[in-house]
Amino acid sequence: MTRTPGTLGTPLTDGATRVMLLGSGELGKEVAIELQRLGAEVIAVDRYPHAPAMQVAHRAHVVDMLDPQALRDVIGQERPDVVVPEVEAIATQVLAEVEQAGVQIVPTARATQLTMNREGIRRLAAEELGLPTSPYRFVDSRSELADAARLLGFPCVVKPVMSSSGHGQSVLHSPDDVETAWSNAQDGGRAGGGRCIVEGFVDFDSEITLLTVRHAGGTSFLDPVGHIQVEGDYRESWQPAAVSEAALDQARDVAGRITEALGGWGLFGVELFVVGDHVLFSEVSPRPHDTGMVTLISQDLSEFALHARAILGLSAGDARRIGGPEEPAAASCAVLAEGDGVPRFAGVDAALSVPTAQLRLFGKPSVAGRRRVGVALARGADIDQARQRARQAAAALTITLDESIR
Ligand code: AMP
Repeated sequence: MTRTPGTLGTPLTDGATRVMLLGSGELGKEVAIELQRLGAEVIAVDRYPHAPAMQVAHRAHVVDMLDPQALRDVIGQERPDVVVPEVEAIATQVLAEVEQAGVQIVPTARATQLTMNREGIRRLAAEELGLPTSPYRFVDSRSELADAARLLGFPCVVKPVMSSSGHGQSVLHSPDDVETAWSNAQDGGRAGGGRCIVEGFVDFDSEITLLTVRHAGGTSFLDPVGHIQVEGDYRESWQPAAVSEAALDQARDVAGRITEALGGWGLFGVELFVVGDHVLFSEVSPRPHDTGMVTLISQDLSEFALHARAILGLSAGDARRIGGPEEPAAASCAVLAEGDGVPRFAGVDAALSVPTAQLRLFGKPSVAGRRRVGVALARGADIDQARQRARQAAAALTITLDESIR
């Protein structure tokens, strides 16, 4: 059946609006729930069985999404109307083929290609659009890294171009750090090392994510989300982040321009460094952002609900914060588990008895190493109180990892 954007079918019939998620983690799970609420037929795909979004989808497939033929096959078999990449590790050339054949790729095949590689998005932002960024160089060898670091000055930051969440990333304080930083980057990149970006270290006042939705009714900006990263991984986020009006205006301008250049419909997480009344563009995710999980408690329409509306060709509506005058602030705190085994959560009642607290336990089937397995959410009279409550709820949980069950 031909699909008209903005018109929705009935799942499990020939008229269904079929949406395929490529990547089925905790963010995909919330997107799947929101799509289900609008009666879309949801197909979840990931590399491993029982991934979080698979648990709430109509159907699931375990596929190596970096294998072009395997990806072609599953798309050919399911014939989705919309394909929603939820991770960066995907054979993106297949997305371009499928888009050519008339399937909607979220937000666009080109956007997923550009954002999976730090070089693509940095060159677009800084060189084509002229957006403010940290100074940077691309390097392909240890000696090029040494030269670039000397040019940019110390400290500087090196990251593999094909990497995310701090993998392979290090801060160089002197030429002595070049050797270790290069080896670290070669081990930590997604595609087995190779090219790196070296960036001047930004001594920022804060970092924010400006969640931006491109939808049938236009472009909407959510209130800025503040966050703290440890080893490149988000630990706490809150909304609204305290940013001056001037910085916020600039943030909206930067977010509007980068998302317009990427195009398509959906929600984007635009990551910015705030320095005084100015912002520097850092990165953009063409999908809901982990720091945006705070919107599960701060807004009547979370980033996931807004994403679902936008990708289905609907208007995002009024993306308002809720909470009222007594609880205008909200926060999230990541719940981490470390070790090996199947998680079991104790102290859930204690966590939920923290005023306003809510939990999302992702249902990840197992942990190997350090993994985010849940998030604690809370509201408060101000950011400090909201953060303190979210931290308290997260700390009330005791996670054991059982190696004897599967
Ligand atoms: P990324 O993977 O690029 O998002 O980097 C992860 C985290 O490292 C960021 O959220 C920052 O906290 C920090 N970081 C990355 N690049 C820089 C930079 N050029 N200067 C200072 N801190 C940075």
